[in-house]
Amino acid sequence: YRALITRESHLPSVTLDGHAMKLMANIELVEEVVSVRDNVAHGVGLFRTEFIYIDQKRFPTEDELFDRYKEAVELITPQPVTIRTLDINGDKVLPYFKNIGEENPALGLRAVRFSLQRPEIFLTQIRAILRAAAFGNIRLLIPMITCVEEIIEVKELLNRAIMDLTREEMVFNKDIPLGIMIEVPSAAIMADELAKYVDFFSIGTNDLIQYSLAIDRNNRQVAHLYRPLNPAVLRLIKMVVDAAHRQNIIVTICGEMAGDPLNVPVLMGLGFTELSMNPGSIPVIKQVIRKLNYQDVCKTAKKVLGMDNTEEIYQFVHSTYTETL
Ligand code: PEP
Ligand code: MG
Repeated sequence: YRALITRESHLPSVTLDGHAMKLMANIELVEEVVSVRDNVAHGVGLFRTEFIYIDQKRFPTEDELFDRYKEAVELITPQPVTIRTLDINGDKVLPYFKNIGEENPALGLRAVRFSLQRPEIFLTQIRAILRAAAFGNIRLLIPMITCVEEIIEVKELLNRAIMDLTREEMVFNKDIPLGIMIEVPSAAIMADELAKYVDFFSIGTNDLIQYSLAIDRNNRQVAHLYRPLNPAVLRLIKMVVDAAHRQNIIVTICGEMAGDPLNVPVLMGLGFTELSMNPGSIPVIKQVIRKLNYQDVCKTAKKVLGMDNTEEIYQFVHSTYTETL
C-alpha cells in the first residue's frame, strides 16, 4: 500500500472536480528537505528553526545560520522554504539558555516575545534569512504573534536589518513575503487588522487548540479533550480564513491536524488551498484529495460549522467519508 502511494506521489493533488491543492512540508532539519522532494511537495510550509539552536552549546552565529538556510533553500529552489523564526521557551528550551522560573512557559516569554526582548538574537537570525534569500525562494514566518504592536516591532527590526545589510554591501534579498503564525486566539480575533501588515497567515492549530480550549498540548491527562474538529476551533479557523480572503492575503495551515485524512475534507471546505504537514503524510493526503469532490467538501464544511458539539462533528465526518478515507 505504502509503495503504491509512493509510486502515485507524482500525481497532482487535485480533486475529482479539478480543484487543486498545494501540499507543503513541515520540517525541523535541513536534511529533511530531501524527503520534501521525494514526496513531491510544493515546498516547505514550515521550517522550525529551533533545532539548529538546540544542537549548539551557544547561540549560533549569523554565518552558521546562513549556511544552513542557504543549504535548505538551494536544495529545493524554485519551491519556497518558509523559515519560521525562533520559537523557544514553550515546549522547547535551549540547553544554554534556561529561562528561569516561569510557572506557565506556554504563556511566558516564548517565541516572538523572546525575540523582541533579545533583538540582537533576532537580528542575527533575520539577517541570515535575508542573506539566504539571495539563493532561492524564502518566506519569513513569525511565531506566536498576539497583536498588531508585535508585528510592527518585528517590521522595524526587519527594516533595520535591511538597512544594515545594505550599508555593509552584503548580498541579500529584501523582497521576501512576511507572514505570521495565527496560533493564539487574540490573533484569530484580530485577523482582519493583522492581515494589513503581512503577506500571509499560517494557522498553527497545535497551539491554537491549546490556547483556545485551555488544553496543554503535552498533558496526557487532558489529551482526550484535545480535538481539532471542536466547533470552537473550527469557527476560529473559519474567521481567520475569511479575514485573509477579505484582505486578499494567502492563508495556509501548518498544525498537525492538516496531516490527518479525516480533517482534510473539512479544511478544504473551509477554504484552504495550501496545507503543510509532516513530509511522511503527504502521499496519503494527496491520495485522499484525489478522491474528494470540492463541491461536496464545501457542503460538508458548511454543515459542520452549524454543529455545536465535537462528537456530532466527528460522527458526521466519519460517516460521510468512510468510503473515501
Ligand atoms: C502549531 O502550533 O500548530 C505549529 C505548527 O507550531 P509548533 O507545533 O512548532 O508550535
Ligand atoms: Mg506553534
